[in-house]
Amino acid sequence: TTRRLTGFKPTGHLHLGNLLGALRPLIAAQDSTDSIALIADLHALTIEHDPDRVRALTLEQATVMLAAGVDPERTPIVVQSQVPEHTELHYLLECATGFGEAARMIQFKEKSAGGGHVRLSLLTYPVLMAADILLHDIRQVPVGEDQNQHLELARTIATRFNGRYGETFTVPEGVRPEAAARVMDLAEPTAKMGKSSGNGQIGLLDPPDVVRRIIARAVTDELAVVRRDREAQPGVTNLIDILAECAGREPSDPHRYGVLKREVTDAVEALLAPIRVRHAELAADPAHVRKVLAEGAAKVRARAQATVRRTRAAIGLLD
Ligand code: ATP
Ligand code: MG
Repeated sequence: TTRRLTGFKPTGHLHLGNLLGALRPLIAAQDSTDSIALIADLHALTIEHDPDRVRALTLEQATVMLAAGVDPERTPIVVQSQVPEHTELHYLLECATGFGEAARMIQFKEKSAGGGHVRLSLLTYPVLMAADILLHDIRQVPVGEDQNQHLELARTIATRFNGRYGETFTVPEGVRPEAAARVMDLAEPTAKMGKSSGNGQIGLLDPPDVVRRIIARAVTDELAVVRRDREAQPGVTNLIDILAECAGREPSDPHRYGVLKREVTDAVEALLAPIRVRHAELAADPAHVRKVLAEGAAKVRARAQATVRRTRAAIGLLD
C-alpha cells in the first residue's frame, strides 16, 4: 500500500473545506492507503500565535478528526512536536537546502511582504514540511495549489541528498485533490475557505443556527439561474459544488437561490450533525484523545528514528 500524509495546522477551527478537501478523502482511503494524519503544531508557530490557543486547537483538531471518522487503528493521528525526529531531520535537511531556494518560496514572499516581525521559522517552514514528508517515507502527498511549490522543494531536497550522500529518502509525489473538493468562502466566493481568512467559513463544530445563517447570507448574484460557472457565478457554483459533495445530488430548482440555499443547508447539516454529537462525547474525555495521540506518535516513531539514523550516517555524523 502507498504511504500518504495529510497535514493540518492548528491555526484555527477545522471547517467545511478541511472536511471535504482533506478529511473525507483521508477517511475514504483508510483501507487502500497507509495514511498518517499530521497535526502540524510546529508550523503554527511560524506566525504570531497564542500558546494556549495552539495547545487547545491541537487537541480540538484531533478530537474533530476522530469525530469525523478517522480510525486511529488504521490512520495514526500524529502531533508533529510529539515526534521530535521531525525537528532533528529539519536541521539536517537545512544543511542540504540553499538560502535562495527557501527565500524564493511564494508563500514566504507573500506572508513576509507586510514587513513587521517576520519569524525565521517562516523562511525555513518548507524545509520542515520536507522533513515531515521524508521522515515517514511518504510516497503521496495530497496538495492544493498553494503547496505545490513546497512539495517541489521537498522533491528537490530529497533528490539532491540522495545524489550527494547516497540513497536515503523516498522522493514523494503530489496527488491532486478533485477540483470540486476546493470549497470557497461563502462571503467571498473567489477566495478559498480558510481557517484564518474570511467570514464565510462553516466551522465543523458551528451550531445549526450559525450554519444556517452563514449559508443564508452566502454571496450569489442577480442572474437568477442555478448553473455552474466559476467565472461569472462563483457564489452559486460554490453552493452547487457543496451540495454535490455533501449530498451527491444536483439542485432541484434551476432558478430559485432560496431553494438552493435551503438544500445546501440541509445537506451540510446532515453531514455535520453526527460529527457534532460524536465530538461532544469525545471532548468529554480529553484523556482518551491524548492517549490516541500518544499511541499515534508511538506507532510512527520506529520508522522516524530509522530515517534519522540513516540520514545522520549519510551526512557524516558519528553514530
Ligand atoms: P490556513 O488558512 O491556516 O492555511 P487552511 O484552512 O488552509 O488554514 P490547512 O491546515 O492549511 O487549512 O489545511 C489542511 C488541509 O485542508 C489541507 O489538506 C488543505 O489542502 C485542505 N484545505 C484547506 N482549505 C481547503 C478548502 N477551502 N477546500 C478544500 N480543501 C482545503
Ligand atoms: Mg492552508
